[in-house]
Amino acid sequence: MLQRKGSVKEGEKCDVCEKNVSEREAGIQCELCEKWFHTGCVTISEDTNKVLGKMTNLHWFCEPCNNGARKLLVNFSRLNERICQVELELKISKVECAKLNKKVEKMRN
Ligand SMILES: [Zn+2]
Ligand SMILES: [Zn+2]
Repeated sequence: MLQRKGSVKEGEKCDVCEKNVSEREAGIQCELCEKWFHTGCVTISEDTNKVLGKMTNLHWFCEPCNNGARKLLVNFSRLNERICQVELELKISKVECAKLNKKVEKMRN
């Protein structure tokens, strides 16, 4: 079934319906906030559904965590772009600097 066997602790509550997630029910835990959910209470992607039950160390994030992770990723890629830009500018200025140095050397000779 859809359950990660033996991983549900006694008294774990589904964060959506606030009812207990018992061992007989299909439950899933968010890897980030470690909250439990009924698999029926959350939308689980087809891919996740396929590997669910087969894998014990499944990476699954609840919706708020998933949204947060996505935002973080967007921020990160923006930051990465900026770093690339800075690196490029640095490279250009290095080249310019080398050119200037050559000019200075020529003038000295
Ligand atoms: Zn529930
Ligand atoms: Zn979460």
